[in-house]
Amino acid sequence: MNNNPTVLEINLGSIEYNLGFFRSRLDKKTKILAVVKASGYGTEAVSVAGRLEKLGVDYFAVAYADEGIALRKSGVKTPILVLHPQVQNLELLIQYDLEPNLYSEKVLDSFLEQIKKSNRGNYPVHLKFNTGLNRLGFRKSDLNLIYSKLKEVSLVKVKSIFSHLVASEDQNEKEFSLNQIHEFNSIGKSFEHLFGFLPMMHMSNTSGILNYPEAHFDMVRLGLGLYGFANDHDVTSKLKNVISLKSIISQIHHIKKNESVGYNRGFFAKSEMKTATIPLGHADGLFRSLGQNKIFVRIKGQKAPVIGNICMDMIMIDISNIDCDEGDEVVIFDSQKDILAMAEQAGTISYEIMTAFSDRIKRLPV
Ligand SMILES: *Cc1c(COP(=O)(O)O)cnc(C)c1O
Repeated sequence: MNNNPTVLEINLGSIEYNLGFFRSRLDKKTKILAVVKASGYGTEAVSVAGRLEKLGVDYFAVAYADEGIALRKSGVKTPILVLHPQVQNLELLIQYDLEPNLYSEKVLDSFLEQIKKSNRGNYPVHLKFNTGLNRLGFRKSDLNLIYSKLKEVSLVKVKSIFSHLVASEDQNEKEFSLNQIHEFNSIGKSFEHLFGFLPMMHMSNTSGILNYPEAHFDMVRLGLGLYGFANDHDVTSKLKNVISLKSIISQIHHIKKNESVGYNRGFFAKSEMKTATIPLGHADGLFRSLGQNKIFVRIKGQKAPVIGNICMDMIMIDISNIDCDEGDEVVIFDSQKDILAMAEQAGTISYEIMTAFSDRIKRLPV
């Protein structure tokens, strides 16, 4: 049981709304794969996937096999693509009906070996092609090799070929992105020529969906957008906020002029003041770089800046002008604007803020 009063609320209705927003921008035939890796971008993958499954998404993707196993154990029946399978997990992956991304010769060989032992045929697999990210994937020139390994065997069925855009959010890299799309199209043509059939093709993440309709292909891989962000303030403002972080006041202090607050005397009172201590800190994902007045929280709608240095498990805030008591609710953030401001102050992106919250923080789907 997690009885921590610090709670990350996850608004499943907002996720539903955001899915609808992207659906309305896609051709009816285009399938949607919902990316729920990293605990649903820091939310809570089981309840998020449960809701999305009811809404009829076509596929889920996770990064690692364990994440897919957790979804299967919770009863998810929708196909799950494992984006980054590890050879030591392939047996488990098959046991839980997860669909691997075969991205290299080594993973392809290991998988064929494993599937032989499992007595299963036509096992759904996905092939990833590297068109510029240089992270995971075969090259177009590997197609003959792949064909030679797969042509005789009915152990696997290639359900999709896919690639990933390097800078789909960046209009300055439009030419590079268009080249990637061109290369992927050409991989599709060669695949069909060799294999005599063309599986599903997919390439677009959230920004790809918005910026490159020509890269929608048969399916899109929607991650960040589901959780309320779109790499562009305009579109983000049209999405609904999904996560809100709330806590309570643990203790209130009356501080005299010239007293200091927190580690290393990171804050000095210029006059008599009132502070409150809140039970979350840098070990919970509230980066230490956000201390020293860089962010504020809200109590009864009023802003209270974070003062001094952020501790591992606590923050201190200035509540001199707020009428409040120990136990009162504190809102760390409840809008995309707050989260983006945190990201900017910490010199990072929304993705990192969202996925940094510790397991100590209770997840509360609402
Ligand atoms: C994480 C990921 C996505 C989702 O990207 P968003 O920008 O969050 O929509 C899509 N495809 C792959 C391969 C990924 O790793």
